[in-house]
Amino acid sequence: MKGFAMLGLNRVGWIEKEKPQCGALDALVSPLAVAPCTSDVHTVWEGALGDRHDMILGHEAVGIVSEVGALVRDFKPGDKVIVPAITPDWNSLEAQGGYSMHSGGMLAGWKFSNFKDGVFGEFFHVNDADGNLAHLPDGLDPVEAVMLSDMVPTGFHGAELADVQYGDTVLVVGIGPVGLMAVAGAALRGAGRIFAVGSRALCIEAARGYGATEIIDYHNGDLGAQVMEMTGGKGVDKAIIAGGTVGTIAQVIPVLKPGGRIGNVNYLGSGEFVTIPRIEWGCGMGHKVVVGGLMPGGRLRMEKLASMMVYGRLNVAPLITHRFNGFENMEKSLNLMKDKPRDLIKPVVIL
Ligand code: NDP
Ligand code: ZN
Repeated sequence: MKGFAMLGLNRVGWIEKEKPQCGALDALVSPLAVAPCTSDVHTVWEGALGDRHDMILGHEAVGIVSEVGALVRDFKPGDKVIVPAITPDWNSLEAQGGYSMHSGGMLAGWKFSNFKDGVFGEFFHVNDADGNLAHLPDGLDPVEAVMLSDMVPTGFHGAELADVQYGDTVLVVGIGPVGLMAVAGAALRGAGRIFAVGSRALCIEAARGYGATEIIDYHNGDLGAQVMEMTGGKGVDKAIIAGGTVGTIAQVIPVLKPGGRIGNVNYLGSGEFVTIPRIEWGCGMGHKVVVGGLMPGGRLRMEKLASMMVYGRLNVAPLITHRFNGFENMEKSLNLMKDKPRDLIKPVVIL
């Protein structure tokens, strides 16, 4: 079978591979719609995961089941399915402990395009099919449903990690597709004032649509100073980081109120250390929490988030700015994610 792969650091292209084997609990799926991710960009062009050779890329897909193992109960060939980016081993101790995304080791619930072939192939393998696939609800557009693989659950996880509560003032750093879903997640959880940080006009318009009350352009001076000025020196209750650099956490800690939380979902693709400014962290006594997390995957999460789309609580259409037909557009769509033209939020390739 054919797959669009990371050939090595800074190199991508098409390769031929054996069709994957389907274990007793697993499924093989053919993609119907896939999306490239900024994480693929960190992996290929920043070498964030180290070197990888001939690894098929991609972890965001809606597909059609082509084969299931003998022990799979709820899925059969021909079923249309939403595939989460994170596919944990549900019988692991980490999953039993509540951290399924780290099943088998830190970040090891993230399998596609990390340590096994991803979804940009004619077929891909899904471990624990009953635990990780979700039926595509009738009437849900498969192209829009691709946003459920990663963008919606990651952005919403930022709002969960920051523990956004009714009436909170929330800072969302980054309004690419992940940050936009963080804005939406914060608004759905009852935030009051929401500051959104970004500069691309299309993203700003979408951020306002999802509930941002004010926009901050990080090019217009220090981010923290802008927030302090806009809040009359008070700062924010919670912050979600979905963009920026290894230095962004240090910029945000000073604007957090004591008791505040930072939920980071940004993938720090480069840099050695994350630093915490001592004084602004209350000399170690400020009750300011920083937590970073990989999105939770799995079937239940997919079904619940899909329900929000089916029942009109969440509209992901504004995220999808580019639609391409055919596998031959994989490279073009991945390059868009790398180059981030100003009219881009997220591309989807339809197969
Ligand atoms: P984008 O590149 O589309 O968006 C990044 C956003 O950050 C943009 O709004 C950009 O602003 C803003 N930004 C860039 N530099 C700075 C800066 N110095 N200070 C403040 N804001 C800045 O990314 P995505 O939305 O696709 O992804 C966001 C991150 O989430 C990525 O690192 C991705 O790998 C990660 N991710 C994490 C997952 C997880 O499970 N934790 C899963 C999926 C993705 P501008 O408007 O100027 O472009
Ligand atoms: Zn992704």
